[in-house]
Amino acid sequence: MAQIENNTIVFASKNKGKIRELKALLTGMNVDLLSLHDYSDAPHINEDGATFYENALKKARVISEYTGSTVIADDSGLEVDYLGGAPGIHSARYSGAGATDERNIRKLLEEMEGVPEEQRGAAFRCALVLYRTDGTFEIFEGELKGTISREPSGSEGFGYDPVFVVPEYGKTVAEIDPGTKNRISHRGTAFVKLKKSLQERQTI
Ligand code: IMP
Repeated sequence: MAQIENNTIVFASKNKGKIRELKALLTGMNVDLLSLHDYSDAPHINEDGATFYENALKKARVISEYTGSTVIADDSGLEVDYLGGAPGIHSARYSGAGATDERNIRKLLEEMEGVPEEQRGAAFRCALVLYRTDGTFEIFEGELKGTISREPSGSEGFGYDPVFVVPEYGKTVAEIDPGTKNRISHRGTAFVKLKKSLQERQTI
């Protein structure tokens, strides 16, 4: 097992599900994982980048400068082929002001109404950045490919999970158990790449 020196990493997130996922993955690696719950006055970051990567890098850099620690930041979303990659970086607020998961899904299904099966391809994508106090950083990416269903199904997960079908399972992500989702998801894949890199380097 890798022994990490200078072992504090701040995860630039308040999302309890993501924090739990990353903590579980880093178990046994001597990493002291903090999050934005430990920095209640951390600056708000305007996610105005053109890509997931740019947004994750901006978050990581700002929070590293603020905390003086190594930081992990992520950004993710859904890209639908038929919609030219939308909603993409706008996934969280796809349906406009006051967007909720339900409204976002409704808007997506409206946009996809009548679109044939073979044109319903989509992918969840995640960019993860590990940013060090000396300004050096690494990027890890993950994707989960699937298709957009015609109606929501399942109650697990969040976001677009009820309308995102994983072909290998013949189910929406909201019908797959959370452990399996964490293993196959865009975020899970990127997290595992990050862990491998930390283990190989044996240092943050
Ligand atoms: P963020 O990376 O937490 O900012 O996620 C942005 C948005 O992308 C979320 O609000 C969801 O709408 C969507 N999204 C990201 N990851 C997932 C996922 O695993 N399942 C469903 N929706 C997701």
